[in-house]
Amino acid sequence: MTSVDLGLPAVRPPGPRSVDTADERFRSGPLRDRHGRTARDLRVSLTDRCNLRCHYCMPPEGLPWLERPALLDDAEVVRLVGLAVRELGVHEVRFTGGEPLLRKGLEDVVAATSALRTPAGERVRTSLTTNGIGLARRAGALAAAGLDRVNVSLDTLDPARFASITRRDRHADVLAGARAAADAGLAPVKVNAVLLRGTNDDEAPALLRWALREGYRLRFIEQMPLDPHGTWQRSDMVTADEILTALQAEFELTPRPGSARGSAPAETWDVTDDDGRTGDVGVIASVTRPFCGDCDRTRLTADGQVRTCLFSTTETDLRDAMRAGAGDDELAVTWRAAMWGKLPGHDIDDPAFLHPTRPMSSIGG
Ligand code: SAM
Ligand code: SF4
Repeated sequence: MTSVDLGLPAVRPPGPRSVDTADERFRSGPLRDRHGRTARDLRVSLTDRCNLRCHYCMPPEGLPWLERPALLDDAEVVRLVGLAVRELGVHEVRFTGGEPLLRKGLEDVVAATSALRTPAGERVRTSLTTNGIGLARRAGALAAAGLDRVNVSLDTLDPARFASITRRDRHADVLAGARAAADAGLAPVKVNAVLLRGTNDDEAPALLRWALREGYRLRFIEQMPLDPHGTWQRSDMVTADEILTALQAEFELTPRPGSARGSAPAETWDVTDDDGRTGDVGVIASVTRPFCGDCDRTRLTADGQVRTCLFSTTETDLRDAMRAGAGDDELAVTWRAAMWGKLPGHDIDDPAFLHPTRPMSSIGG
């Protein structure tokens, strides 16, 4: 596969890290960190590959994909997810990528995950973040496998703009995918939109009007410094304030009563359109209003590395440990110890901020 020089520091190779497996703190319990947070929400990347080339996420030629043997196989994914749910306090699992619909075994992985029960006997909540291509064909099977709901990414209502942003002419497939998901009961369907200055930053109200009409819950995401070339500039980013100003020019937004954001990344507002349709809209202001203090995420990459944060510059290997014969207890200790070291915040505003060691598509967004 084509390879590009990302100009980024190499990811720390998996290998010996100083995990004191004798430390009592890591022998049982959930995924706590030293700043008082507990991770309950697991993001699992199932592949780093994608069938779109959103220009803020991937270069036209793609990225140097992980080789197949480097990827966790389905049984390995299910083993680690099961460990997280049974032993580590995880009660929500989101599959992502790259494009998770490219993973052939997705329905099997979802079925095995949705069959898991927490120690309190509760179902684990499952969801999928997808670009929606191929979802029209697979929504029924994913619902039958026990998937609860989906997030579909769509940045524009204009097919020509879509083709320009994603470098692929697949707008209709995304719309069909979102509709099929809603019809299959994978609801609420949330729609993720990234606004890009000079490209689609005039579309916030139109996207909201469309989402309300379709019954989807729209979430705008501030563009983060997770592009493969490291060219993100804060001054180019469309901020949450700008998005809200544009929405408020056409809608009355009412803050969700009692909805302190808590660990949910989106600040949400209730909204009604001109025809009386009600719904909500959210803004995920990871850059201008970071929610790190309440973060409840832990992440697993497609090649079996634990990341404590999207912006981590270190990773902790579970794949090689598992393949070398580590038992569940040992893997759990390693995961707990990794999370203990989670940093308090991403410090994007700090001049010393280091671009993460992988782009978004390889971490799992
Ligand atoms: N391919 C799937 C998709 O597009 O939904 C899943 C992976 S994608 C990385 C997940 C989400 O991250 C998408 O909504 C995408 O728009 C968003 N995203 C990608 N790069 C981003 C960036 N630099 N800042 C903010 N969001 C980004
Ligand atoms: Fe693919 Fe999602 Fe990245 Fe777009 S945002 S290139 S769909 S991984």
